[in-house]
Amino acid sequence: MKLNIDRKAFMIDQVAALDLPTRKVVRQLYEAAFNIVNKPLCLAAAEKIIAETRREDSAFILTGFPIIPENLWETDGPLGAIVLAEVLQMVGLKPLLITDHGCVEILKAVSPNTQVSEFPVNNEQARLEAENLISKFNPSVLIAIERPGWNEKQEYHNMKGQNVSDLVGKTDYLFRYGRESGIATIAVGDGGNEMGCGAIAETVRRYVPYGAKCQCPCGVGIAATTPADVLVISGVSNWGSYGIAACLSLLKKLEYKHDGENELRLLKRIVEAGAIDGVTTERKPFVDGVPTSINNLVVNLVWAITNM
Ligand SMILES: [Zn+2]
Repeated sequence: MKLNIDRKAFMIDQVAALDLPTRKVVRQLYEAAFNIVNKPLCLAAAEKIIAETRREDSAFILTGFPIIPENLWETDGPLGAIVLAEVLQMVGLKPLLITDHGCVEILKAVSPNTQVSEFPVNNEQARLEAENLISKFNPSVLIAIERPGWNEKQEYHNMKGQNVSDLVGKTDYLFRYGRESGIATIAVGDGGNEMGCGAIAETVRRYVPYGAKCQCPCGVGIAATTPADVLVISGVSNWGSYGIAACLSLLKKLEYKHDGENELRLLKRIVEAGAIDGVTTERKPFVDGVPTSINNLVVNLVWAITNM
């Protein structure tokens, strides 16, 4: 059976946006993001990447979300980043992974051939590093995957409304400086507190617990304020990132290879490198509390749709 790309992209979006972590806000966030581009979100992101890049261009991929009080980084984000990085390499781009100090080894464990850069927490250093990285690499696209986004007081929060700013490299400076410089921005999020969700901030404040009022003294909520040109909302951010990689593969007529078997292999490796499940906070191959077997089925479903 050969389906056209539009129909496959619709199916991929439906699968990636499954609310299996049962956060009960994915539908509202997805619809708000869909209303901006009026087409399947993963396809819109893939088309944007193709439209904005030429062979040999640099592409930045920002990821990594800290979990407190463990001060470890979660399994959602890094795998989405490295699977997408591999497909970007296949289409001739040069990805640079950018993350927090505590997440560098996690990315290196699964992506030995891709450069990983650590981004500073300190405001002034972060501002300088944003300008430095953009002038050095001249990227044509910035892609944030499950990356904390600051709120209107430039504070970072988790989904419980707690402040995690002390652990987060302030990559909002990078996204904002990039946007001012005319560089395309793409983001994947699943809760509304991730960078890029500024595009749907009103929806986040209205529907997401702690969206408008957090548990930390800043008091103004977890809704991220930095937007992206294309925002992909999914049930688990990794799944949205796989959806973008899948749509890129379809548009470029490449084989999309990331199946459940590959997922489990990579997931075990990042857990060995120190990643934990963001919901149970346990060192096991879960993602956002979704058990291994269910996560594998979703990954295989995206793979099967793409390759049918
Ligand atoms: Zn706060």
